[in-house]
Amino acid sequence: MSDLTKLTLTAALDGLDSKAFSSRELTQSFIEAIEASNDTLNAYVVKTPEKALAMADASDARRAAGQAGKLDGAPIGVKDLYCTKGVRTTACSEILGEFTPTYESTVTQNLWDAGAVMLGKLNMDEFAMGSSNETSRFGPPSNPWRRAGSNRALTSGGSSGGSATAVAADLCLAATASDTGGSIRQPAAFTGTVGIKPTYGRASRYGMVAFASSLDQAGPIAKTVEDAALLTEIMCSHDPEDSTSLPVATPDWRADVHKGVKGMKIGIPAEYRVDGMPQEIEDLWSQGIKWLQDMGAQIVNVSLPHTKYALPAYYIVAPAEASSNLARYDGMRFGQRVSGDDLTDTYQGTRASGFGAEVQRRLMIGTYVLSSGYYDAYYLRAQKVRTKILQDFQTVFADVDALLTPTCPSAAFAYGEKSGDPVQMYLNDIFTVTANLAGLPGISIPAALDGQGLPLGLQVIGKALDEATCFRVAGALEEAAGFVAKPERWW
Ligand code: GLN
Repeated sequence: MSDLTKLTLTAALDGLDSKAFSSRELTQSFIEAIEASNDTLNAYVVKTPEKALAMADASDARRAAGQAGKLDGAPIGVKDLYCTKGVRTTACSEILGEFTPTYESTVTQNLWDAGAVMLGKLNMDEFAMGSSNETSRFGPPSNPWRRAGSNRALTSGGSSGGSATAVAADLCLAATASDTGGSIRQPAAFTGTVGIKPTYGRASRYGMVAFASSLDQAGPIAKTVEDAALLTEIMCSHDPEDSTSLPVATPDWRADVHKGVKGMKIGIPAEYRVDGMPQEIEDLWSQGIKWLQDMGAQIVNVSLPHTKYALPAYYIVAPAEASSNLARYDGMRFGQRVSGDDLTDTYQGTRASGFGAEVQRRLMIGTYVLSSGYYDAYYLRAQKVRTKILQDFQTVFADVDALLTPTCPSAAFAYGEKSGDPVQMYLNDIFTVTANLAGLPGISIPAALDGQGLPLGLQVIGKALDEATCFRVAGALEEAAGFVAKPERWW
């Protein structure tokens, strides 16, 4: 039998349906692929092969009984940010020690209810803070892609770098990820995969380790737009356990993927043409515009004047919320504890040893911008900017159906290339944070290889709750780009 791990999610489900192979066989192939590669790629921080095989057998039995769900038998990887009952969940932070949840996140429960099989927990930046996974307590995963003629290890982006590596290297059919400022879309762009951040509130945050609650959103990384559409449908649901979860139905978006863009109006925001943007990114963007035009879309130049304030606003709002959310890690309830002479000493010792440098930096920034005297100057002002950014989008969306931008200002970078300078690292999020600040859906699709042979992504941003249009435009771009490249295997 050909290598089952190379199948798309949709093709694998077809194969299970037609009894070409069983979920056990499929799952076994992934377990072997993970075993053979994890020392090198470091995508999984917890492997659950026995659980996976038990879930696969249960799935095969359901399918034989004619009771298969929409994802029945499909092996999936889970970002270590989702609480999984009985399986260690640490958001790749030392402070969570060996924390093993006694409950399941709503998103992962939705997957298991649809019949999916869990392969394990995927690497990420500590508490999802980062763009390269260099802040993971377990060390970073490697990008399966390398620059032509070079064997220098590249990051697979962040914070969902493990998810992106696993999907790109065929170590799962698809993976869950999460996006607070770009953590689904940027790793997808760096690895030639598809990633969507749905509208804020589409998916439940219940059981997701919190980073910045008003920005955090669950979504998948997958091999194709259709796979992403299916997984998004299953992951999203209204959940009374999350007060910001939207009481809306979750449609089947797969049909939208092939509807084409004829007659659609696509906006091109002038402000995303930033200083110092590499020519290759410019060229890719122009190519994307041409593809859409050739397929019958109308291109409209638009302006989102407050875009330049998005990154500074994000790096105030996100750390502010993080400093509040992460106050719960005090050595009393979860994971690690460093006992001191008194309570304050215990708090300080635990937090100083349990949080890594980037998390500590964010907590200090967040505490500072919320402190009395600075609150108005920083936090309140950032919130006002956030409203302006949302209003910019609302104005242009009165006229266009979706926006097309590059996903990132660069291709995958190497370890150490940006980690010495936090601002350089933060600048990588310049095109992605806007959708989080405005709560809008955004999808990244692999569109081309750069001169060094690395994947580049295009981003489609849609109106709130209009993932359908995102999938439609993304599907058209996927078809036009015909991106089929895979990393050459070195691991
Ligand atoms: N890279 C961004 C940050 O470091 C986004 C992270 C995310 O989306 N979780 O905050």
